[in-house]
Amino acid sequence: MGYFCKICGNKEANKFYDVREMQFGTRDKFIYCQCSSCGCLQLTNPPADLSIYYPNKYFSFQLPKEKYIKKKLNVYRDRYSFGIPSFIGKILFSKYGSPTYINWLNEMNVTLSSPILDVGSGNGKLLYRMGNIGFNNLTGIDAFIEKDIIYANGVKIFKKNLFEINEKYDLIMLHHSLEHMEDQHAVFKKLSSMLDPGKFLFIRIPICSSFAWEYYKENWFALEAPRHFYNHSLKSLNYLAEKYGFAVKKIIYDSRSIQLYGSEQYKQNIPLIDDRSYFVNPNNSIFTPIQMEEYEKETNRLNETGRGDQAGFFLVKL
Ligand SMILES: [Zn+2]
Repeated sequence: MGYFCKICGNKEANKFYDVREMQFGTRDKFIYCQCSSCGCLQLTNPPADLSIYYPNKYFSFQLPKEKYIKKKLNVYRDRYSFGIPSFIGKILFSKYGSPTYINWLNEMNVTLSSPILDVGSGNGKLLYRMGNIGFNNLTGIDAFIEKDIIYANGVKIFKKNLFEINEKYDLIMLHHSLEHMEDQHAVFKKLSSMLDPGKFLFIRIPICSSFAWEYYKENWFALEAPRHFYNHSLKSLNYLAEKYGFAVKKIIYDSRSIQLYGSEQYKQNIPLIDDRSYFVNPNNSIFTPIQMEEYEKETNRLNETGRGDQAGFFLVKL
């Protein structure tokens, strides 16, 4: 088959895989191609109407209900972790450590007044929490939300796509949204134009240069046919970063145990939302508690050794 990789253009020795839709269990088949050169795993035949693969239940646009006191304590802990001292914050930090999102932000030279954009933000759950601790220039965009949302803490979420935005930012984040976008070159070019040198792009995506893909192949949980157009390899993400003027400052691995149990379920023909799925019904699942513990441990090992199937890339504009 004369298929050109949509990332690097290579057409030699590419491999093809039949992948089923298994999250909702329609089992519709899609063909993914893995480029023999850059390693990117890509959907070759996107359906004409993708919306049927994004049923309403795909998105959780409701903010979680938080108790007032917990929300207040989180503010102290998060602010302390970000370098804003307080007595209560210090106690909470010593007990619970820093929340993951603050660890991310601490890598990227941002201040409370930095303009920050979250692309594919959904309801803006992360930005909302950032707004609560004092970040005051936060914007989210998501083409799939019903309508714009303006929160009382000043966070603004717009029903827009990336190409409708013309501002510049100190930080642009994409948390599991890049893989859903059709033209990766256009996206990177646009993102690059929105950041001045020294500013950051933070991308979290599934990664196919990982144990879970190599072991489970067509049944890899994170393939998410046909919603993921691209499941990058380290090499293909690096290729785009370099081409559009970014240096990789750091990579973190944050895969979850669902990479193992979800893939194992698909291999045994059990969709994610099936009654026998651990995700839906842990007591009725095919796994023993001991197996689940093993999956957790194995996931930690994979993340520590750079073999987990999800990664976060801290990219700095050159
Ligand atoms: Zn390629």
